[in-house]
Amino acid sequence: MIQQDDIRTDMGAPENPTSYESFELEAAEGERSEWNEYTVRRGDRLSALWTNDWDLPRATLYRLLNDKDNARVLNRVRDGQRVEWQTDEEGYLTRLRIWTSRTEGTEWQREEDGWDFTRDTVENQGEISHLVITARVDGSISAALAQRQELSGRAAGALAVLLDRHLPVRARARTGDTFTLLVEQEMLPGEDEPHQLRLLAFDYQGEQLNTTAARHTNGRFYTPDGEGLLPPFDRRPFAGNYRISSPFDTRRRHPVTGRVAPHHGTDFAMPIGTPILAPADGRVTRVDSHPVAGRFLVIEHGQGYTTRYLHLSRSLVRPGQTVERGDRIALSGNTGRSTGPHLHYELHVNGRPVDAMRAELPESDSLTGEELKRFKEISSTLLAEVKQSGETRRVAMTPFSDMAM
Ligand SMILES: [Zn+2]
Repeated sequence: MIQQDDIRTDMGAPENPTSYESFELEAAEGERSEWNEYTVRRGDRLSALWTNDWDLPRATLYRLLNDKDNARVLNRVRDGQRVEWQTDEEGYLTRLRIWTSRTEGTEWQREEDGWDFTRDTVENQGEISHLVITARVDGSISAALAQRQELSGRAAGALAVLLDRHLPVRARARTGDTFTLLVEQEMLPGEDEPHQLRLLAFDYQGEQLNTTAARHTNGRFYTPDGEGLLPPFDRRPFAGNYRISSPFDTRRRHPVTGRVAPHHGTDFAMPIGTPILAPADGRVTRVDSHPVAGRFLVIEHGQGYTTRYLHLSRSLVRPGQTVERGDRIALSGNTGRSTGPHLHYELHVNGRPVDAMRAELPESDSLTGEELKRFKEISSTLLAEVKQSGETRRVAMTPFSDMAM
């Protein structure tokens, strides 16, 4: 068992940007909470999303649905709609926005001292523009982007992070590789730095890798044929059956102090020395020790998926190494602040810890049927732009969120 905040202090910035789906450039320190974002998919049910994917208390949804006018909006959430929300430190909803178009939506805000919500319409004043950027890797992707005059330094840095996350994890950029990106940027009135950047498609041609991919409404990237870039995932990172000694729980209260002490992982009781296996292909980004976490390691799987393993006795991998699903990556242990031999396992999606035992995991992340047809409709426009290489240029295009609706 471990408290997330304890690790954070030493680990510095989380490995993932706050929302990589739409990388927010201005993370104003302290004064504003992070917005979480989700685009509703075909077949989604609000009640299931609410508790399983967004990890919000069911009681809050019931409270909102009690009001007839609220229910009218909430019960009509459909495919392609964008939902944004914020929570307080204890994981309770404070703000919720449901967009009916790119520019218009409904916002609920929790009252200062209570559990009731006020409802309002909300407008997005941002101006959307699209940019096609072609560059040649020179040492690194970020160095290549930093040379583009069309991009501010911050925008170039953010885009490099985005591209790196969407490329298949086992790929490596090499000097001389070329790539073309289609980027959507949103400017707020009176500001000269983009407020949000969204990568819509890319074409990467290199020594080790040739990939063309476009964004789908679920926020993941797929090749023109609908093959996902996210590797398949196992539910548990070990062979055999070990008991869950403490489940994922963001609102868990400390048994003694009563203070909220979120548990952002799943604990499995297991003997010291049990082999830990990579649940999916990935790249090891961190192997380290911490007074609370003990010996730990972090693996990035691409597309915003990251896993963490705490209280290990030994790591069998080193930072920078690529691993395949099923590879032995570590031996479990009892290091750090731990009350007995166990593995603490975390899954993060787009920078947020999620319940690895309940989250939807890609088995083979390929689109089929209606979903594939829909992807092809939307992506053909995006892919045409990145396939037409040449100079960096502005293009006139419908905002992605409008295409998706
Ligand atoms: Zn734990």
